[in-house]
Amino acid sequence: MKIFLCLLAVLSLSAKAQTSVCYGTTSNGRIENAVKLPGEGDNFVGYSTIASLIGRTYVHSQVKDIIIQAYRQLETEQAGKVYKYAETGWAQGGRFKPHKTHQNGLSVDFMTPVIEADGKSVHLPTHPFNKFGYDIEFDANGKYEALTIDYLALAAHIVALHKAAKAQGVDLWRVIFDPKLQPNLFNTRYGDYLKKHVQFSRKASWVRHDEHYHVDFAIPCVHSETKNNGVIK
Ligand SMILES: [Zn+2]
Repeated sequence: MKIFLCLLAVLSLSAKAQTSVCYGTTSNGRIENAVKLPGEGDNFVGYSTIASLIGRTYVHSQVKDIIIQAYRQLETEQAGKVYKYAETGWAQGGRFKPHKTHQNGLSVDFMTPVIEADGKSVHLPTHPFNKFGYDIEFDANGKYEALTIDYLALAAHIVALHKAAKAQGVDLWRVIFDPKLQPNLFNTRYGDYLKKHVQFSRKASWVRHDEHYHVDFAIPCVHSETKNNGVIK
């Protein structure tokens, strides 16, 4: 029993120190030593406790650090605004239905920040009856029932993610968000920064990205699965 406990302690210590290793691409890949996003923080929550429990919120360790750092930055920069992340991927990566990507720990969906009529920042509702929020459709004016898209909070978040990624020596690969709604991001005070530093999807995606925005992180992965004497090349 003692040996078993010691072994457990060693295993959990080494798990903490490990960084993730991603393989392949977001649409054909996998990951080792992925980490789970925390259920909530001071200014953010996850989209579903159940989804988290069944393991749908794993990411690359560096992606987790970037996400946490960005939220921390927003606590002061966008004080009073609340954020919600959504689907990320499995602990081992691989096919993550119904998504086409999200396979190697580098893809993260975030629910679009919204405000009520009085300007109060609130979360989009996410539960099994609206496919965890993914069924929500905004109209051309960025409205869904009594909620309006908070473009300032959204733009600030993407900038914060980009800055946190850069601080770690990596980058964002791309952001997918409904091209028809994108001009509203560029009209905020973050617009110039976004145009200069962030690559947005230009074409409509296979599903409309209005209730959520998808971010792919540019973190180096192992591209070859070839193993030589146990050494991954
Ligand atoms: Zn996605």
